[in-house]
Amino acid sequence: MTEVTLARGFDFHCHLDLYSDPAEMVALCEKEKILTLAVTTTPKAWPQNRIWAANGRYVNVAVGLHPELVAERHSETALLLECLKTSSFVGEIGLDGSPAHRASIPRQKEVFGRVLDAAAALGGRVLTIHSRGAATEVIDLIRAKAHTGKILPILHWYSGSVTAMRKAIDHGCYFSINGNMLASERGQVIVKMIPDDRLLTETDGPFTTEGKRPSVPTDVIAMVKRLALVRDTREELLTATIEANARAVLQFAGRQ
Ligand code: MN
Repeated sequence: MTEVTLARGFDFHCHLDLYSDPAEMVALCEKEKILTLAVTTTPKAWPQNRIWAANGRYVNVAVGLHPELVAERHSETALLLECLKTSSFVGEIGLDGSPAHRASIPRQKEVFGRVLDAAAALGGRVLTIHSRGAATEVIDLIRAKAHTGKILPILHWYSGSVTAMRKAIDHGCYFSINGNMLASERGQVIVKMIPDDRLLTETDGPFTTEGKRPSVPTDVIAMVKRLALVRDTREELLTATIEANARAVLQFAGRQ
């Protein structure tokens, strides 16, 4: 059972297994009561992540295949779909349309489409989704493939157009916000647009930074203060909103 009520913060997208000592990071989440969704970039990493998180109350593990790895690890799609049968949490998945990965977009779409189909068929799946340089394509695929109510999509570190974002909101998507987004003007526009009932926090550690060091899950606590300023609301209200949303997400996944 995952502990929402006692949690001091929520990190809905973190690569715990990419820090030098993943077990120590899990221990940090447990000690500091940061409810964390540990994403994986390949389904081969999923079993070990589950072992690290096995005895905790605050870390859930998602099985994924990062779009940047699809070109070289396409053959792991079958394993991903197999793991998905027993995992309520899925990610990191999605599309990356930035110049370095544009060439594999057709293959990325095939993999992402199959994951959406499988997750919708199983139901009760929470997906944390990458959409850099391909937000419109990601949202169009979600709308085309996944039946509303069968999956709960969370767009992580969203940086796409406002138009695509409106479509995503209409389709029930959540958004997880990190500190780096708050630091850019464009990120702030996005952060202000998110409806209260779709707002979550993340770090995407260790890929984001807090000062000069890589972010860690506990950084979400201080980030909520900055988020409250950007959204022009009170920190206590925002904390309650994020906690309610976290509860809704975990309920969807059958963890509450
Ligand atoms: Mn990530």
